[in-house]
Amino acid sequence: MTSLLEVNHLEKTFGTHKVLKDINLQVKPGEVLSIIGSSGSGKSTLLRCINLLEQPTSGAINFHEQNILANNFNVTDYRAKVGMVFQSFNLFNNLDVLQNCTIGQTTVLHRDAAEAKKIALEQLETVGMAPYINAKPAQLSGGQMQRVGIARAVSMSPEVLLFDEPTSALDPEMVDGVLDSMRALAHTGLTMILVTHEMAFARDISDHVVFMDQGVIAEEGTAEQIFENPQEERTKTFLKRYL
Ligand code: ADP
Ligand code: MG
Repeated sequence: MTSLLEVNHLEKTFGTHKVLKDINLQVKPGEVLSIIGSSGSGKSTLLRCINLLEQPTSGAINFHEQNILANNFNVTDYRAKVGMVFQSFNLFNNLDVLQNCTIGQTTVLHRDAAEAKKIALEQLETVGMAPYINAKPAQLSGGQMQRVGIARAVSMSPEVLLFDEPTSALDPEMVDGVLDSMRALAHTGLTMILVTHEMAFARDISDHVVFMDQGVIAEEGTAEQIFENPQEERTKTFLKRYL
């Protein structure tokens, strides 16, 4: 099967600091890829390059075999197809839950209001937030906000959804609800790239796992290979912290 997304020899430099070095990845449709690694290893920068929040310094990123870094590439269309769920939720605080999930659909995808509402309600139902459609983000717990963040992202019908530590800002008792929503999404066949420190979850849900260390992919493989039988010393050291 051909890749949905392919990263080739990607490099990113901030000033003199090379944060990503020769990153190579392939993600097939329906696949769940997890990226693990210590803080500062470049995980967020990689996600931000993939959705063009950062401009890569060199290398190539192909989506459906099209070079997304080419001058004539339609970045607006691409951004609509590549969703992102942030650690800090990034909801619109002045809008209610339903509006948060419809505004992108009407303004970016030009769906009519009724269709946008129908899709938003379906997704809010899936994450258990349908009872809160009229609430403002400030009235919700962190876990509830993140579930709205997920419903909002999925309402845009993305082809691939990126998650950057979606549970790291949550109180422990809120984490499982969010992970359950993500698991349900993975089971729908959505392609997902996930940065997480939830190792049990990553092991459970991932088709492929990448371990990053100091800007390089130090090791990659199936969830079983990485978690049961890591080969690299630095992978072993990293994973020991989560035992
Ligand atoms: P991770 O998500 O794995 O914790 P990041 O991708 O956030 O790692 O950061 C990798 C490195 O890049 C860190 O040293 C960080 O300080 C640096 N970095 C990230 N973003 C910027 C930026 N906008 N400007 C300068 N340095 C940055
Ligand atoms: Mg990060």
